[in-house]
Amino acid sequence: MPERVGIMGGTFDPVHIGHLRAAEETVEALNLDALFFMPAADPPHKTGKKIQPFKHRWRMLQLSLEGHPRFHISDLERRLPGKSYSVITLRKLREEVLPGAELFFLVGLDAFLELDTWWHYKELFQLAHIVALRRPGYSGTEIAGFLKRKISDLYTLNAETAQFDHPQLYPVHYLHNTHLEISSTRIRHLVKEGRSIRYLVLPEVMSYIMTKKLYHLESLIIS
Ligand code: ATP
Ligand code: MG
Repeated sequence: MPERVGIMGGTFDPVHIGHLRAAEETVEALNLDALFFMPAADPPHKTGKKIQPFKHRWRMLQLSLEGHPRFHISDLERRLPGKSYSVITLRKLREEVLPGAELFFLVGLDAFLELDTWWHYKELFQLAHIVALRRPGYSGTEIAGFLKRKISDLYTLNAETAQFDHPQLYPVHYLHNTHLEISSTRIRHLVKEGRSIRYLVLPEVMSYIMTKKLYHLESLIIS
């Protein structure tokens, strides 16, 4: 049996319990052997936006995943030159890093419904299972229409498994993960306003943010 390996890309600025719980529920529901969080070094969708240096986003992930038997972090996107394009990352994983593994690419529904703006997005469906994660504000009923319009009208829904199958491409799974209305944007705003972020991130991450003064008003002005 090939290994079943999940990949969760993102900016993780900072990682929060919305990411962690969705990842946990995916590992459980799809019986994954391992899941790699893959922080983007230079995310194409955040061009022009100020993001924290990779080392801080990496450290906060490390603090959050410590001790989890199946969660790992990968610095592949930092090692690859140029922008962090998911197609390139997945190609590299399939060809060199994890040959033979069955890959599952996790994306929140917000990101999923914008996949057609990603570089060479159609190829994603030839490289990995796609796992669309529920996210407040976005409706899973839009998945079928999106697949039909943007990828291929040969996808058919298996209502029992909430899985869309295709004769040539990988399936698209719709995960019924717990709705957690949490985003990194909101966490950054709360810190900036001097408000509490307790229970939105792990305690170690909260301490890290406070110690390093990330997202604080002063740090935004100075840098
Ligand atoms: P930002 O507000 O800065 O965009 P974010 O909270 O969306 O941050 P990202 O790093 O952009 O976090 O997200 C990485 C991946 O995790 C994306 O696929 C995103 O859709 C997904 N994700 C983020 N938050 C949640 C959540 N609360 N529930 C489910 N999926 C989520
Ligand atoms: Mg986001």
